[in-house]
Amino acid sequence: MQNGRRKTRIVKIGNVPVGYPYPVSIQSMTNTDTKNVKATLTQIKELYHLGCQIVRVALPDIESAKAVKNIIAETPVPIIGDIHFDYRIAIESIKSGIHAIRINPGNIGSEEKVKAVAEAAGAASIPIRVGANTGSLAREFQLKKEESEEKYDKAERTAESLVKSALKQCEILEKYSFKNIKVSLKASDVLTTFLAYKKFASLTDYPLHLGVTEAGTNFRSSIKSSIGIGSLLMLGIGDTIRVSVTGSPLEEIKIAQTILESVGQREAAPEIISCPTCARTTTDIIGLVNKLEAYIESLKLKGLKFKPFTLAIMGCAVNGPGEAKEADLGIAGASGKFVLFKKGKLLPRSYTGEEAYSMLESEIKRYQIL
Ligand code: SF4
Repeated sequence: MQNGRRKTRIVKIGNVPVGYPYPVSIQSMTNTDTKNVKATLTQIKELYHLGCQIVRVALPDIESAKAVKNIIAETPVPIIGDIHFDYRIAIESIKSGIHAIRINPGNIGSEEKVKAVAEAAGAASIPIRVGANTGSLAREFQLKKEESEEKYDKAERTAESLVKSALKQCEILEKYSFKNIKVSLKASDVLTTFLAYKKFASLTDYPLHLGVTEAGTNFRSSIKSSIGIGSLLMLGIGDTIRVSVTGSPLEEIKIAQTILESVGQREAAPEIISCPTCARTTTDIIGLVNKLEAYIESLKLKGLKFKPFTLAIMGCAVNGPGEAKEADLGIAGASGKFVLFKKGKLLPRSYTGEEAYSMLESEIKRYQIL
């Protein structure tokens, strides 16, 4: 897959290169008040521990742009400032040492203002993300509502508008010799998102930030983001991703990691294989999987990292021992108890649920990177 990726120019956000051939990176956005430096840094550190590589913070006012200086001083990951409406906030955040900025072509204002931002970002050698969004397209790109239009046609027309809007902004930046550009074209509709990125990718070499915007709560966003982001990644399109969740940004990282693992862009650490359970299940497989997942997440939140390994949790003897044997660590239900496998070898006795859980807990720690 790595070789099948679209060739792009490369931008560097702090110490994270974005673009081919560098790995697709994971981004998120804090939902604390950026002026509250302590709370924002706490969230940034949690995101980092879970695997987030770049964090965006909203900068709604000049005070936030000033406060970002103290965030930059202590952050473990590069910070992108998210700016709407007022170009002066962008300039202030650049003075504060921000690693990159995101501007919205639909609302940043006149060309003169964009030029001022481009010059400041150019002098600081930081990238700009042009973030076009269907919710805030400039008037010239807004579409008239057409009655009885097919969903696909509407999506295609909207995608076209998003592409034109982003292209126009990139042209303005390039006109002022600013080339350090990354682009996103977000819509809350998955089909529009897919069509817009596909079209834009065929026209330019800008690295792309993928995301389905306002994707909803955990459940809905997992599905919409997996389809929208995953389908593009499987075409080799996309260099950095953000899953948008109405909820804790920590959830975004879990979904983003799983998307990257599912399309072969990351090795899972660990990959958890678990059966759906059925009438043959005689043990509490669901409880065991949930408990182990929560345990692994709690270790990651403490900053622990793991080597890639596979953990199989299976309900019975039909597929159970087969899958469990293939895994680095495996567990299969057997007549109300569990049997355990390590590197394919069956351990010589059976275990109660509690015994099996504590065995797995200590085995998991062996995959920890010290
Ligand atoms: S592994 Fe066994 S218990 Fe789990 S779904 Fe398959 S048949 Fe059912």
